[in-house]
Amino acid sequence: MRALVTGGAGFLGLHLVRRLLDRGADVVVLDNFCTSDRPPLEALMAEQPVTLIEGDVSYPPRLEGPFDLIAHLACPASPEHYMRLGLETLAVGSRGSEFVLDLAANTGARVLLASTSEVYGDPAESPQAETYWGHVNPIGPRSVYDEAKRYSEAFFTEHRRRYATNTAIVRIFNTYGPGLRPSDGRVVSNFIDQALGGRDLTVYGDGLQTRSLCYVDDLVAGLLAMIDSDHPGPVNLGNPNELTVSELAKLVLRLTGSHSGVVHLPAQQDDPAQRCPDIGLASRVLGWSPQVDLETGLARTISWQQSQHALLANALDEKG
Ligand code: NAD
Ligand code: UDP
Repeated sequence: MRALVTGGAGFLGLHLVRRLLDRGADVVVLDNFCTSDRPPLEALMAEQPVTLIEGDVSYPPRLEGPFDLIAHLACPASPEHYMRLGLETLAVGSRGSEFVLDLAANTGARVLLASTSEVYGDPAESPQAETYWGHVNPIGPRSVYDEAKRYSEAFFTEHRRRYATNTAIVRIFNTYGPGLRPSDGRVVSNFIDQALGGRDLTVYGDGLQTRSLCYVDDLVAGLLAMIDSDHPGPVNLGNPNELTVSELAKLVLRLTGSHSGVVHLPAQQDDPAQRCPDIGLASRVLGWSPQVDLETGLARTISWQQSQHALLANALDEKG
């Protein structure tokens, strides 16, 4: 099995690469490190057969096929990143998707799109099933991400219709775990980083908005189940255990034993008020459901972020 993982240096990408290597695959990573660091991938490359092609999937270099699998994960995913990299995010959803689809059609690979719950926008119904068409502001600050993913889904679907390309679309709901950079800007890494650093946890708005958080090992198991199936999707992957952002802040404070406070900052424009996956389809067609409960997953993530804090403190000590 030869696999191309775009965005393979990122949070989910690196977890997927490790699982593909466990299966004996040769893995090629195409990444431009716009939202990731080099050392974790380089450490893996020192031990395992991973080839790095440093580049932008929207303006790709020539790639030698064939591939059995192409996993298209490249895309800034943290709102902080995609709002800063708006045009790049639109490009990776359009040009980047076109590139991986043509490569898949030419090499016969199965091609997986990491789409998102953001295609549902600020949903008017909950939980969100794949049949819901969404409620998206096409010109709001989140549109560069939401609409790029919606466009990618349309592109994948039309490619399959026209050329019988072996496409697979998964809609990923908020995922967290070890490997999510403390500086990434998403809620779980922010809250843990703030709690460990003794700083106030920053809740945007009233904190009553909800999210449903999936542990990374569960999510990657879902990606692999989708890769192994022949289902075109879209299939939701996420953990339906829904909680408010304020409840999450309290839980992080309890699990870290931190004495930090909570500060409310202005609400973000178009921030979805609720988000919860209906995973009935994933359960029926992939036999998949998440296994790791939130407290267990958070405890593992806290330990990992603590180790990153310790590494950083040692490096600063050595410097000076
Ligand atoms: P991430 O930001 O950690 O990783 C994205 C990776 O893609 C990074 O290594 C980045 O450098 C790379 N990249 C971005 N643009 C690129 C380009 N043009 N060319 C080459 N490389 C590029 O994000 P993540 O959390 O690992 O998300 C991975 C994928 O899953 C994304 O497509 C994201 O939209 C999707 N997703 C993730 C979540 C989640 O909760 N983690 C939820 C929904 C969807
Ligand atoms: N959020 C927050 N404080 C933070 C980061 C995020 O209150 O420091 C909120 C954000 O407004 C949203 C939720 O947490 O309601 C999830 O945000 P995240 O950026 O993780 O992902 P999103 O689901 O918005 O893509």
